[in-house]
Amino acid sequence: MKSYQVTEFGKPLEFRAYDIPTPKDEELLVRIMACGVCHSDLHLADGFFDLGNGKRITLADRGTKLPFTPGHEITGEVISVGKDVTNTSIGDKGIVFPWIGCQKCLACKNQNETLCENPKFLGARLNGGYSTHIIVPHERYLVPYGKLNPFQAAPYACSGLTAYSALKKIPKTTSDEFIVIIGAGGVGTNGILLSPHIHNAQIIVVDNDSSKRDLAKTNGAKYCFSPEEILEKSSLFNSKISGIIDFVGNENTSNLGLTIIKKGGTFVIVGLYGGSLSISLPLIPMRSINIRGSYVGELRELIELVELINSKNVRLLNVTKQKLNSANDAMNKLRNGEVDGRIVLEP
Ligand SMILES: [Zn+2]
Ligand SMILES: [Zn+2]
Repeated sequence: MKSYQVTEFGKPLEFRAYDIPTPKDEELLVRIMACGVCHSDLHLADGFFDLGNGKRITLADRGTKLPFTPGHEITGEVISVGKDVTNTSIGDKGIVFPWIGCQKCLACKNQNETLCENPKFLGARLNGGYSTHIIVPHERYLVPYGKLNPFQAAPYACSGLTAYSALKKIPKTTSDEFIVIIGAGGVGTNGILLSPHIHNAQIIVVDNDSSKRDLAKTNGAKYCFSPEEILEKSSLFNSKISGIIDFVGNENTSNLGLTIIKKGGTFVIVGLYGGSLSISLPLIPMRSINIRGSYVGELRELIELVELINSKNVRLLNVTKQKLNSANDAMNKLRNGEVDGRIVLEP
């Protein structure tokens, strides 16, 4: 098994070779066909998340042991199964659901594994997909991807699922309302492409980058603005912005969102860019604003999402293939904002 691993936080990934593991009991051994490169892989390799005001949460504190294989947008083919696997055969292909919980806590019992107190997320707590093989703990976590190819399908495990779950957290909308998407990178673009299949509201995109705004327009956004422009025009939209998804998650974007959301609106924070939020407390009750966090999505939502993509004419995210051995190059491109859509690594 060939893997690209974080061996020291803040350093490039290193190549390591291991024996191919044998699946036990309910486990599957999956040969990886594709693995998307996600922004959170950069945080994992850096070893911290910025909490603002000089505070950091480090992965060492959260119990991440090195060396460690990142990558959580995985598709693959089953090549061996444990003795208790009943419904999966060798040769079955699918998206590997990575957001796996402990199976013991209340959140897991309620099938909200992303809220688990002791998560076993693949590519975050357990070894992930920058590798040729992976052990999947149970067959229910392999979701067949239907008509997609494995490269198109891989980013739906995180980028697509994150956008889908965030959109579902905004209550039903009508066609005279607006949903604002802040940040038209990979996940934001999935939000733009999926929104018409979930909501009736029209989409406004806010991004600093004019080329991203142009792309958002071709992907179906009704209006695209820079942060300054939407503030100038806010009186036109203010009472109609029912939902906002902040795919960036920094101080500027969260303040912008809370400024333009309508009374009773829902502001969903998804991005993990970092920083802290300062807000006048009386405005939250006076304007009845719902502020929600959304972190990736649940297994049932991935199943729904794959079904949606297979049954409706959803425009897919643009993916670029790169060889697994260029994982560091792919991460650098992402860090430098040079990626249009998603880079997907091919072992
Ligand atoms: Zn991700
Ligand atoms: Zn749990």
